Amino acid sequence: MPAQPADSRWFLPLSVRQLVQRLRTWPPSGPRWTLRSSAWILFLALGVAMTVGYFLLPTADAMDLYYQLPGMVAVVAILLGIRLHRPSDARPWVALASGLTLSSLGDWTSVLLSRLGINPFPSVADVFYLGGMLVVVVAIVWLARGRIPGGDRASLLDALIVAVGVALLTWVFLMAPIVSDTTQSLLEIAVALAYPAIDILLLGIMVRLILAPGSHVMAVRLLIGALVAFLLADYPYAFLSLSGGYYNGNIIDAGWMIGAVLWGAAALHPSMARIAEPVQPAEVHFGIWRLGLLAGASLMAPAVLVIEALTGGRIDVPVVATGCVVLFLLVIARLDSVVGQLRTTLDQRRLLETELERRALHDPLTGLANRVLFHDRLEHALCRREGNVAVMFIDLDDFKTVNDAHGHAAGDRVLTAVAESFRSSLRPGDTVARLGGDEFAILLAESPDRYEAGVVAGRLLRAAQVPVNVGGFVYSIGASIGISLAGTASSVDAASALADDLMRDADIAMYVAKGQGKGTFIVFEATEHKEVVRGIELRTDLETAISEEQFELEYQPIIDLESGVVAGVEALVRWRHPTLGLLAPAEFIPLAETTGAIVPLGRWILSQACRHAVAMVPAVKSVTSKGVTTLALPQPEEPEGPYVSVNLSAVQIADPGFADTATEILAASGLAPGRLVLELTETARLDHIAAGTAIHDLRAMGVRLAIDDFGTGFASLSQLRRTPFDILKIDRSFVTAVATDARDEAVVTGILDLARRLEVEVVAEGIEDGVQLARLRAAGCGFGQGFHFAEPMRLPELRTFLREHAGVTDPGFRVRARARRGSLVPDA
Ligand code: C2E
Ligand code: CA
Ligand code: CA
Repeated sequence: MPAQPADSRWFLPLSVRQLVQRLRTWPPSGPRWTLRSSAWILFLALGVAMTVGYFLLPTADAMDLYYQLPGMVAVVAILLGIRLHRPSDARPWVALASGLTLSSLGDWTSVLLSRLGINPFPSVADVFYLGGMLVVVVAIVWLARGRIPGGDRASLLDALIVAVGVALLTWVFLMAPIVSDTTQSLLEIAVALAYPAIDILLLGIMVRLILAPGSHVMAVRLLIGALVAFLLADYPYAFLSLSGGYYNGNIIDAGWMIGAVLWGAAALHPSMARIAEPVQPAEVHFGIWRLGLLAGASLMAPAVLVIEALTGGRIDVPVVATGCVVLFLLVIARLDSVVGQLRTTLDQRRLLETELERRALHDPLTGLANRVLFHDRLEHALCRREGNVAVMFIDLDDFKTVNDAHGHAAGDRVLTAVAESFRSSLRPGDTVARLGGDEFAILLAESPDRYEAGVVAGRLLRAAQVPVNVGGFVYSIGASIGISLAGTASSVDAASALADDLMRDADIAMYVAKGQGKGTFIVFEATEHKEVVRGIELRTDLETAISEEQFELEYQPIIDLESGVVAGVEALVRWRHPTLGLLAPAEFIPLAETTGAIVPLGRWILSQACRHAVAMVPAVKSVTSKGVTTLALPQPEEPEGPYVSVNLSAVQIADPGFADTATEILAASGLAPGRLVLELTETARLDHIAAGTAIHDLRAMGVRLAIDDFGTGFASLSQLRRTPFDILKIDRSFVTAVATDARDEAVVTGILDLARRLEVEVVAEGIEDGVQLARLRAAGCGFGQGFHFAEPMRLPELRTFLREHAGVTDPGFRVRARARRGSLVPDA
């Protein structure tokens, strides 16, 4: 059957099943919310009207019957409330309804018995009534259990103090007279006492609810209201009935009736579903109300004495004394709870303070001191009267690889392990701090000298290597340490400045240690300072320099010493630094080698040099079919013009992709491989496998290999035999002395001899004058370069130079290119 549109079904006759279905799901959710949210207020209005109606009744009989009405309506309201608001636990509400029903039943029974001429007191009516009230007590405690947290000892004590105070009054003026009434049987007395006893119980609960910290939802306020109204009726009733002054239709009946109406209203209020939700525990404040209530309650005993004295009543010493003692003890307990509360507040505050302080001064990952705390301790140490202070900067070697390969969690594990290892290898007086990342700092406060600091550094280097298992790999991390030492400072201000200096110096020393191969420590030397600071600055600048093309090449001609012809040019790189000016390779090449920047830089140099080499030779003009003039590139098969000699770093040639890169660059430039020479210093370990194959591949293409700075490195002659090469460059140091030192001359002669036998060419470097040139020529040296011929120059100047000296046959010539070496001398 197709579903009916929602709107149309009201117009269709309902089947019985549909009717049942509709009733089962009543109340419908949605548009009927107004009833749900306002039922309680309607009911309250109805209740007040009923109460007013009661007093308008003409006869006591009518009143007797009518009186039961609000109570019964309240029971219905409670059941309706459960249905409307569906509390997660309806049982306490059902209990409340049952309690009210029972007490109502008690009232009915009492009325009935009276009608039948039977004295209803004591009778089954009292059983119903008292039982009902007990159930109501249970229901309220059950309902409000979330509102009166067990931990709130203060409010419980307050309620007890009030209850005991009232109980004292009740006993003296209400219960004692009942007990002393000799006309009553024991059962009658017991039943009569049960009523005020329950009142005291209800009063205690009421006070407990009122004093509970936090704000109350409306349903709870209505419940409290019901209790207040009920007690406002019940207490006067008890006194009145004692003196026989109660009659039906007394104004106090209104209290009972309004009370009943409020029970029902509480259940009809939407917040009744949330009544059991625990409230946020709030601090109990001593408001004026609470203080007044407590003072009044605890002064009940003297009040009783005064009243008795004034009215001439008999003073019940044991009872008043007991009440006095109990109240006193409760007040003491309350004081204790106040003190306890204060103490916990103070404790919490102190805990919070230390925690905040700890967080501000410690590294969250390792729990070590942070930079702030470290600096503070350092200053303190420097303010001492005597002795040395040592600061160490530790940077873990290759920590990045752990992070990159296994993620940050693994990195964190390594850091924590290393931190712990550092901590345990130091004395208690020393401070270990984590400055951030993989940087640590250590303060040795017990006056160490250089030697002792070195011993500790050695221990820390070993400590850093603590093995850490990361995803199946056992990592053992190295470290580099920089140490700075100082005596104590003369003043507090001086200490602060000195602390800064010490930390900077240790940082610099650490950089030096890193540069000198990792896994070592270095003690700071003031002389290194300037140089190293510049190195550190340059290191960061290097990264941008490549992309911003701050480098440029110069070329120094290499002369055939027999003919004077320019056989080749050596490419030499310079860095036009934006602030420092033109920098010589010695200032940044070693740095670029340590950071790895040499690989992209070297690539740039090679491609630039190859393209320039093509452009060096006089261009041949040709006209294409479209009539555009272009440069005709020299044919790769027939090398033409001087070769270009490019310096390589060992780092570059060890890079596995080097041979491919070089081949690509050559192809892209159009340079004949025969016009390219690669210079490697003798110290570069050519036995590296990648280097070996790269050299083999490139030589197979026709690229030649030169051994640079020959004579200064460590290569033995036998090692030299194993390495295939084509050119040998004699280091400038031999050339300089060739004319003055007989031994150097012998070395040069020996090298030339060796070269002849190995069938390689020789280039003498750094020829500065004609005497040196003459000696080298006499000894049979084939090629030379040096300031005697030309200084390194930019491409345009080189082209002029080449044009002017094409076909020169006088080997004694000397041309000086525009002097620029001045700019290359590093600042002193
Ligand atoms: P090197 O390969 O021995 O280069 C020769 C150096 O000696 C050059 O210094 C050159 O200017 C200088 N020189 C040439 N003739 C004379 C002379 O008659 N007297 C004196 N006193 N010096 C002369 P430069 O340009 O400062 O280069 C220094 C070193 O930097 C080079 O030594 C080379 O090892 C390295 N280098 C230069 N350019 C590069 C490059 O592009 N890549 C790499 N990896 N290293 C380079
Ligand atoms: Ca060179
Ligand atoms: Ca050289």
